[in-house]
Amino acid sequence: MHNNQNLEQTSHILHLVLPKMSELAIPVTPENYAIWFDYFAETNLNLKRAIDGLIANDVKFTPEVNLGLYNRFIEERSPEIIENVQIETQILINSLVHKIEQLGEGTANFSGNLSEFNQKLQSNPNSDELTLLVMSIAAEVEQVIASNRHMSESLVSLSDEIANLKSEMDNLSKVAMTDELTSLNNRRAYELFAAEQMTKFTDTQTVCSLLMIDIDNFKQFNETFGHLIGDKVLAYVALAMKHTVKGDDLVARYGGEEFVVMLPNAKLTDAVNVAEKIRERISLKQLSIGKEKKQNLGHITVSIGVASIQTGDDADTLLARADEQLYVAKRAGKNCVKYA
Ligand code: GH3
Ligand code: MG
Ligand code: MG
Repeated sequence: MHNNQNLEQTSHILHLVLPKMSELAIPVTPENYAIWFDYFAETNLNLKRAIDGLIANDVKFTPEVNLGLYNRFIEERSPEIIENVQIETQILINSLVHKIEQLGEGTANFSGNLSEFNQKLQSNPNSDELTLLVMSIAAEVEQVIASNRHMSESLVSLSDEIANLKSEMDNLSKVAMTDELTSLNNRRAYELFAAEQMTKFTDTQTVCSLLMIDIDNFKQFNETFGHLIGDKVLAYVALAMKHTVKGDDLVARYGGEEFVVMLPNAKLTDAVNVAEKIRERISLKQLSIGKEKKQNLGHITVSIGVASIQTGDDADTLLARADEQLYVAKRAGKNCVKYA
């Protein structure tokens, strides 16, 4: 089964990429192709903005510019994954273009034959000649129909390939955006999401708030119970956060034992409420491990810093304010929520 909308989107993008590259005189290499596929797919807003800026300023896409775009926006994204996908896409494109050329040739051939038949008709053929003529037209038509049938069959299998490729791309990008230990979004996913929220705020004044969450005394916890149990606790904390937030909120592991929660449409007071719920939920839980010989792990707590978006913010300044508050919370004795 494939998702028709994805398929439609992918082939829509495929049809935009090559003409644009040719219009801008950009060589079709896998690297350049990756840039322009991303541009039209609009999966990387920073890349899109950078290219729109270049176009608006009439900057030429020289090899240096192309390489710069690749290094800045594409290379850091799991390079070997991207490369494979792009090469496959390239092969698909070539095969699609080839098939369309074939279709064009077949039709051109057919109209060539038709005008030849037409000429013969003009020359007052006798009935035997006419029969012959009609028979050859019929044969020709049959051949064109047959080759078109073959064409549409191979176009269908091409569509299947594109659908597979798309779902492969979806999987790969999911892997590239997920933290393995906790199954939360990773830092990269957070950064993309945060960039979207910044744009929304600039364009439509839609607010958002950010929580920065750090487990208290986790070094000590690891030293007491071991790193493996520490890992399980990270996964537990991740789940507790996920279960406390709403569907369009984004929970991510920022690194180590630090997490961020981005709350779209949330004012500071709403965000502080969510933070307080998360803090409480985690601190109240009596942790234990093992089924029969239960090992008691006691309680763990988190400290949380909260900040809301303000005019002039970018993702970094918003994060810095939440982080400052996190340290205020740590200095205030941990297991508490502080806000800017
Ligand atoms: P504070 O209350 O000030 O945050 O103290 P802390 O001990 O939590 O902070 P510190 O930054 O000193 O140490 C963080 C610890 O988190 C260090 C490391 O043992 C632990 N940690 C970071 N990443 C992981 C991980 O992936 N697995 C495990 N088990 N522990 C981790
Ligand atoms: Mg920390
Ligand atoms: Mg900590």
